[in-house]
Amino acid sequence: MASVTLDGITKRYEDVTAVDNMNLEINDGEFVTFVGPSGCGKSTTMETIAGLTLPTEGTIDIGGRDVTNLPPKDRGISMVFQNIALFPHMDVYDNISFGLRLRKYDQEEVDRRVEEAADIVQLEGMMERMPKEMSGGQRQRVAIARAIVRKPDAFLMDEPLANLDAELKVHMRTQLQRLHRELDTTIIYVTHDQAQAMTMSDRIAVINSGVLQQVAPPLECYNEPANRFVAGFIGSPAMNFLEGEVVDDGVESKYTNFDFDPATQGVQTGQDITVGVRPEDVYLQRDAEKAAAPTKAFDAVVDVIEPMGSELFVYLLFDRDVEASAEGRGEGQLLINLTPDTQISEGDDISVVMDRDKTHLFDRASGDAITHSLE
Ligand code: ADP
Repeated sequence: MASVTLDGITKRYEDVTAVDNMNLEINDGEFVTFVGPSGCGKSTTMETIAGLTLPTEGTIDIGGRDVTNLPPKDRGISMVFQNIALFPHMDVYDNISFGLRLRKYDQEEVDRRVEEAADIVQLEGMMERMPKEMSGGQRQRVAIARAIVRKPDAFLMDEPLANLDAELKVHMRTQLQRLHRELDTTIIYVTHDQAQAMTMSDRIAVINSGVLQQVAPPLECYNEPANRFVAGFIGSPAMNFLEGEVVDDGVESKYTNFDFDPATQGVQTGQDITVGVRPEDVYLQRDAEKAAAPTKAFDAVVDVIEPMGSELFVYLLFDRDVEASAEGRGEGQLLINLTPDTQISEGDDISVVMDRDKTHLFDRASGDAITHSLE
């Protein structure tokens, strides 16, 4: 077990800054996930921790040792990657024990560790199988067992579930949570899939363009996003955003206005603001009592209804003249989430309220969050 500390890590390729001055302390035994869109620098950060690439600036400390210039094998880490590289001509036992045999561990110790690892990832009875006789999920478990037997101080996992089908992904998520609980080892995990980040991690580190945006427990990132990027990235479907300007008694935007005293929210008249509200925090006016603190009602037209079984996603237009944007949700569009038994049809004129307690304000220029609740 070990803590991992990144101190001022920057990685530059010729004209690209892949990682920009990253400072992060991962505690002993913690499960931390790097999450962000493709190309944001997640893998590069992981590679600097693993020792597969050297940072341009900064230092890395694992378990109190400065490992910045040590080769991967001397860092006390085990890695699991997206592409499961098992030896095709070796059976499960030989694949799992390969590293131990290379390091000349005695046979009893090898057997004991393989048995223990196979037990944790539920591969008992499969020791003589060849990789080609196994499913994708089983092969990934062999790769994880191979990482476990080395008893590393920290596991580094880069998109280990990316090549598995949707059902197996969900199953492996629970397996990994169990693995973390049983091993009690530091796990650093990379994914672009926020569902994996949200469900497994003690904390998530949200990255955009090489810059760390927020490091916090998943629900804190969800309920109190540090900025507009985190607000839009975490949560599916994504938060609604409405552009507006601070006026004397609140925020005015093209189709809506929110009344509050600007002084209590720390904003200035004339300031450009983005209002954010999640789909589940908007209610039909007739159900307004479900909101802890309903705003006044806004008129809208039902554009498209998506029945998901357990819920309804309902796309609204604030006005019949709004053109629905072909690229994501545009200004004048609002997505709301309703219970599946709601009586509602496409083309209906409706009124909705938002929950003031769950309405976020962001400064438009910096993107920084100002408040997560309109008082
Ligand atoms: P992610 O893992 O979040 O998808 P990466 O860490 O792989 O992102 O990449 C971050 C950025 O660094 C990208 O713009 C990528 O093109 C660039 N990059 C990564 N590796 C190299 C390399 N070896 N040479 C040049 N640019 C690279």
